[in-house]
Amino acid sequence: MQASATEPIASRRRSHVVRVAGVAVGGGAPIAVQSMTNTDTADVEATVAQVAALARAGSELVRITVDRDEAAKAVPHIRDRLAQRGVTAPLVGDFHYNGHTLLADNPAAAEALDKYRINPGNVGFKDKKDRQFGAIIDTALRWKKPVRIGVNWGSLDQEILTRLMDENARSAEPKDARAVMHEAIVQSALISAARAEELGLTAGDIILSAKVSAVQDLVSVYTMLAARSAYALHVGLTEAGMGSKGIVASTAGIGLLLQAGIGDTIRVSLTPEPGGDRTLEVRVAQEILQSMGLRSFMPVVTACPGCGRTTSTVFQELARNVQDMISERMPEWRRRYPGVETLNFAVMGCIVNGPGESKHADIGISLPGTGEAPAAPVFVDGKKSTTLRGPNIAAEFQKIVEDYIERRFGASASVEAPPPERHRA
Ligand code: SF4
Repeated sequence: MQASATEPIASRRRSHVVRVAGVAVGGGAPIAVQSMTNTDTADVEATVAQVAALARAGSELVRITVDRDEAAKAVPHIRDRLAQRGVTAPLVGDFHYNGHTLLADNPAAAEALDKYRINPGNVGFKDKKDRQFGAIIDTALRWKKPVRIGVNWGSLDQEILTRLMDENARSAEPKDARAVMHEAIVQSALISAARAEELGLTAGDIILSAKVSAVQDLVSVYTMLAARSAYALHVGLTEAGMGSKGIVASTAGIGLLLQAGIGDTIRVSLTPEPGGDRTLEVRVAQEILQSMGLRSFMPVVTACPGCGRTTSTVFQELARNVQDMISERMPEWRRRYPGVETLNFAVMGCIVNGPGESKHADIGISLPGTGEAPAAPVFVDGKKSTTLRGPNIAAEFQKIVEDYIERRFGASASVEAPPPERHRA
C-alpha cells in the first residue's frame, strides 16, 4: 500500500514560505508542481491554450518566456484571456539579459506576472550587472512580486567561477574542477539572494534554484544549497532530455533530493517529441510526487509486468482499460468524490501474485493466467468480493469500481460507509 499523502517519508527541510499569488511554496506547503510553455509568448492564442492545458493537467505555476517587447506586451492579454477561461494558475515571467528593460517599459506585464525568474549569470555583465539586477528587484518590490533566482550551469556567472578557480589554483589542496563548479553555482545563488535582501526583498520573497543536467551534480549542488540557506528551493534537472532518458534522469535526481527532504517545488524539464504533448512534464512531476507518497493526484494502478503465464493480451487490455477509465472519469470523480485520488487499484496477470497484490489494493482483480480456470477473482478492501467470468470482465469490473467509489466517497459515504481502518491517515 502506498504511503498516504499526509504521511511524511523524510523530514522536510525547513524553508521560508513564499506566496506566489494563491500558491504557497516552501514552509512545509505541499510540494508544488510547475511547468513552462514552449510557445512564442507574443502569440497570445497559442500561449493561452498551452498555459490552460498545463494548468488543466495540474501545473500549479506556469512559466512563460518574456524575451522581447512583443512578448512583454502580450502578457497582460494572456492573463486576461486565462481569467476569462477560469484559469488561475500563477504566471511566472522568465527573464534573461533584458528583464530590467522589459519590466520597466511594460508595467502592465510587471503587474500581470505573479513572479519573476532572474538568472544571475546573464542579468548583465561587469558594472551593468548590479544596476540591472537592482532594477528588477525594484520592480518586484514595487509590484510586491516574489522572484526566483535561478542559476543554471549553462549560463553560470563567469566572474564567480573565475574567482573560485583562481583561489583553488592557489590553494595548498586544490579541489577538482567539478567541485569548484558546484561551489560557484551555489555561491552565485546565495550572493544574488543576499543582494536581493539588501535591496529590500525578504527571504519569504525569494525562491532559489541551481540547475545542472546530470543527476549526481544536481544532488551535490542542492545538498549544499539546502545546508547553507533556508530559502524555498525549486528543484529540477535542466535539459533533462527526451523520452525515457529525460523522465528517468529527472525522477532519479528529483527523487533523491525529495527523499532527503529537499525541494519545495519541482519542474521536470523534458524535451518534447516534435508535436508532442507538453503536459507530459506535468504528469511526470505528479507521478514522482505520488509514487513517493508525498502527494496524491490520481488513483494509482498497480499492474504486474506479465510474463509467460499471460500469453494472451487480455491482461494488458484490462490494465489499459482501467488506466483509460481513470483518466476519463477523473474530472467528474474529482468534483464529486473528494479523496478519490488516494485510491489504489491492482490489475494482475495470474494467480502467482494476483490475489496477494489485489488484497493490498482498494480494488484488485487477478486475471486467469495461461492454463488457469477462466475466472477472475475481484478483491475489495482486502476481501474477495466476487469472481468475474466470460467476455465482459472489463465492463463488469468498471461497474464494481464506480459503485465502490460512490459508496466510499459519495455524498452519503460518511454515514453509510466509513473508509476501512487501513486507509485512514
Ligand atoms: S503475477 Fe503472474 S502474470 Fe504477473 S508477472 Fe507475476 S507470475 Fe507473471
